Amino acid sequence: MSRSRVLEREYGKVKVKVYGGLGEIGGNCIVIEDRDRKIVFDNGIRFSALRKFYGGRIEPLGLSELRAIGVLPPLDALQGASAVYISHLHLDHVGLLSSIPPGVSIKVPSARVLESTLASWYKRSGSWLAYVPPEYTAKVEDVEPMKEDENGVTAMPVSHSCFPACSFLYRGSDATVFYSGDFRLEPLAGVCGQLDEVVRGSGVDKVDVALLEGTNFGAEHALMTASMFRECLSLLFRDYELISVSIDPLDLEAFTAILDLSSLMDRSLVIGSERLLWAVEELERLRPEALDRVYALEELEVPTPLLLKSVGLEEVLKGPQGYALVVEPVGLLQRLRVLKMWGGVQDLAGSAVVLMDPEPRESVKEVEEGALRVWLRSFGAQVLRLRLSGHYLPHQFRRIVEALRPRDLIPIHTEGADVMNKLFNRIVTSM
Ligand SMILES: [Zn+2]
Repeated sequence: MSRSRVLEREYGKVKVKVYGGLGEIGGNCIVIEDRDRKIVFDNGIRFSALRKFYGGRIEPLGLSELRAIGVLPPLDALQGASAVYISHLHLDHVGLLSSIPPGVSIKVPSARVLESTLASWYKRSGSWLAYVPPEYTAKVEDVEPMKEDENGVTAMPVSHSCFPACSFLYRGSDATVFYSGDFRLEPLAGVCGQLDEVVRGSGVDKVDVALLEGTNFGAEHALMTASMFRECLSLLFRDYELISVSIDPLDLEAFTAILDLSSLMDRSLVIGSERLLWAVEELERLRPEALDRVYALEELEVPTPLLLKSVGLEEVLKGPQGYALVVEPVGLLQRLRVLKMWGGVQDLAGSAVVLMDPEPRESVKEVEEGALRVWLRSFGAQVLRLRLSGHYLPHQFRRIVEALRPRDLIPIHTEGADVMNKLFNRIVTSM
């Protein structure tokens, strides 16, 4: 019943222990011990185990059961640590924060974003998701980007389909350790930098070991770069009436890219899901000038941020070419169905719904996609899947290795560890 083996490597006095994320996608948990210091990187849920043991009415009995069957890292990974560093808020990294033992401080890329997203979405959940928010007594702190903290850790902001996201660099007594978290090399919107540039900017020219994610090694879907994504979306903006794009609600980069494109194509952007409203506060910082083209959908059931104007769905459907909707898929469907019941919208022919898949193995599946598609097609909408990965692409691996110049590599969050090791050896000998 217990979880998979723990990989252990020593670099002088620095010990690296991988409790989760080896040979699979999800469940990252890395422990670093250095003399009397202990820190943890990520506290992820293993969805592979969660799906194996639970479903329908078979639900977790509690945190200790989730630990016993290896959905969560074992308690000894966390006990005695001074801090657990969360790379980003995807559940296979953030895990169940209420399971963190008291005394271990929780360091996150943004406590504000944690509070306005996961913590508020799941606080009153009737399922195991209620364990996601931290205990109210827990010490939750922001990491300070590009500044070494009291534990020797430097957080480096990276691009990912979840905002904000960090890689971590640990400068220890005998070794320097790099932990990538999840990242894409080429940012989608100018929200953060490119990993190799960030690494160079930090003055690091080599590390002893790199724990590097490799999600896309072995992935079969077609390669899509940021510019291909923009090109594809512009085409849709040009030739379709209403464009609705469903995104991972934590994906601020996708949100910003869609906002930039819609402004360029002279469309107003309408936020159609409660779970996307947190982004407005971030946009105020990142794109203040674009905010006057952003609306909240009138039908939302929560108060919308003060600075947003609102517009009703019927209004949007009267002039569909003038708008782009960002939504979570279910939210949009719900609203269309209600309108249909009232005898409003019958027809979305000429409009497109773009589904930007969150990485399927890294998140909770809250949507039955088959059913969603049937509904959307019943309205006549063209349904398209656009798969822009939140992770770097395999052909970019060399650039990453050349920036970090690690002596040793530990592939994590991947089913392609063998290929990564082979490529790594090849790159190192040619360097
Ligand atoms: Zn992620």
